[in-house]
Amino acid sequence: MSRVYNFSAGPAVLPLAVLEEVQAELLEWGHTGASVMEVSHRGGPFMQTAAQAEQDLRDLMGIPDNYKVLFLQGGATMQFSAIPLNLGFAGKRADYAHTGHWSKKAIADAKRFIDVNVVCDTSEEGYKHVPEASSWQLSDDAAYVHITPNETIAGVEFDWLPETQAPICADLSSTILSRPIDVRKYGLIYAGAQKNIGPAGLTIVIVRDDLLGHFPADAPRLLDYQVMAESDSMNNTPPTFAWYLAGKVFAWLKANGGVESMAQTNQQKASALYDYIDNSNGFYTNPVAVDSRSWMNVPFILADDQLDASFLAESHAAGLHALKGHRSVGGMRASIYNAMSVDGVTALIDFMDQFKAKHQ
Ligand code: PMP
Repeated sequence: MSRVYNFSAGPAVLPLAVLEEVQAELLEWGHTGASVMEVSHRGGPFMQTAAQAEQDLRDLMGIPDNYKVLFLQGGATMQFSAIPLNLGFAGKRADYAHTGHWSKKAIADAKRFIDVNVVCDTSEEGYKHVPEASSWQLSDDAAYVHITPNETIAGVEFDWLPETQAPICADLSSTILSRPIDVRKYGLIYAGAQKNIGPAGLTIVIVRDDLLGHFPADAPRLLDYQVMAESDSMNNTPPTFAWYLAGKVFAWLKANGGVESMAQTNQQKASALYDYIDNSNGFYTNPVAVDSRSWMNVPFILADDQLDASFLAESHAAGLHALKGHRSVGGMRASIYNAMSVDGVTALIDFMDQFKAKHQ
């Protein structure tokens, strides 16, 4: 077997133990005589698996009973529209923090359905820090406040929350389950699965139940959280394979110390990489302000961009894949989600050091 260290931003590396379990069950799942992809979502075996996945996610995140957990499709991007449609009832406008590429997209989609007040905007500086909450221009009558606590492309993150009357709505696509959070402080949390949860095709929404039931009658019914909550996310056929696999990742997380243990390891991985970059005498730099640096996505730029192509070719040959940075940032980006081991990060740092010794 020749699995590489995969630093992809998403779809991203999955735990090997999970993939091996799935492989063992692929042709014959439980006593069904078929694979999980070939059986009804309404049959006992799948219903049980689906319910267990939800319970494990509730346990991992400490999700209170007055929150619904929805297993949806359409990616985080579909939620950019679903959120204003479902939550827009409570105010004349919605507040959005513009701290990166994904919050920009969320704002653009929300504007089709609701007035948007942008509370802070770092686009001009190229998303290098998150302005402190005291400078945010919050409205008095916002229906909700939307934030993107981890911006996957620029590698910009904040783990505090602004003080707001309105419910906080957070895109946790690239940071969910990477550390403990207090779900009660949020009105709604959403995340595409393909980074810290499982394969693409599944989107998790965790929503406080008092926010349901106000959906516009003329909007697409499947975007109504109440419809999905009342049908246990099975109003239509759900993405069964992705749901099953996410359940295996949740079980793996529980068996490996849960989010507390993930947080420790994630902090250790991120510090090691940032420390190495900061002490490379400028050969490598990370463009983000120290207090806004992401634990999950670490962009780094080579002082001499003529070396980018050789860095990518040589790292690839060394079994370190998917390190090319997003075109808007340039350079490299290492995404180091839960399933990236400490060994993978150590191998990356060793490679970076050898490359530097050869080229500086
Ligand atoms: N938000 C964030 C923070 C993301 O990283 C991404 C995907 N990279 C998205 C939203 C869009 O997710 P999807 O492709 O699942 O729609």
